[in-house]
Amino acid sequence: MSAIRQPGKINENTTLVDNGMEDVHGMTAVFLIQGDRKCLIDAGTRTAAPRLVKMLSELDAFPPALIVVTHPHWDHAQGIPLLRQAASRQGKQIEVLASGAAIPLLADAAFNDVFSGGPYESIQAVTPVKEGDTIDLGGIALRIYEVPGHCRGHIAILDEKNSNIFVGDALGDKVSDDIFLPPFMPSTWGPDAFLCSVNKLRQVPYETLCLAISATSTGVKPGASWTKPWKRATPGGSFTRGTQTG
Ligand SMILES: [Zn+2]
Repeated sequence: MSAIRQPGKINENTTLVDNGMEDVHGMTAVFLIQGDRKCLIDAGTRTAAPRLVKMLSELDAFPPALIVVTHPHWDHAQGIPLLRQAASRQGKQIEVLASGAAIPLLADAAFNDVFSGGPYESIQAVTPVKEGDTIDLGGIALRIYEVPGHCRGHIAILDEKNSNIFVGDALGDKVSDDIFLPPFMPSTWGPDAFLCSVNKLRQVPYETLCLAISATSTGVKPGASWTKPWKRATPGGSFTRGTQTG
């Protein structure tokens, strides 16, 4: 198993952008996918958004045509209003897409109040996507999988061309090469849904995996250390695929 932790290209079309949440670098990432259209996976926090605009501009990628939000937690979505405002100042618009189940949570400014760091904004005018939908970026198709558990309305996004999947917080935090923590989040945690999502993702034909939050923010090849922590930490967990080594 190998991991990519540094900002920059992780495959022909995808760039890892370290968005430096809370001014901590090497912990959180958003991902830029460049087909004929540019797409951002997640938008980070409100406070990190000005820096994200700057970094994307330096990549000649602002504004992206699309932002796909993996789930409605503040650290993935609350950058959207500022990104939209910055695009608007250039006379452009960003289309935001999310799970239909996430849309009312994105619109509810109080949804994230359980976390410190507010106030939070209502995010509206979001296009719903659902399991099996594909998003055509021109030369790259993104396929949507619904993977709740960490949070309602969580989706994973498979870049079929590069066999790379963006899982947000659905699987957990890889805090080191050897430690992978399940994504417990008491306010939105659903253990049964999480197990279903893990089993679903096991069937997805990906070769590399992108996490949003961890010490690593990685593009990673799956291997043994991905599955062992889930088995230990999740009561009643059962998995359809055997643990691999490597
Ligand atoms: Zn989350």
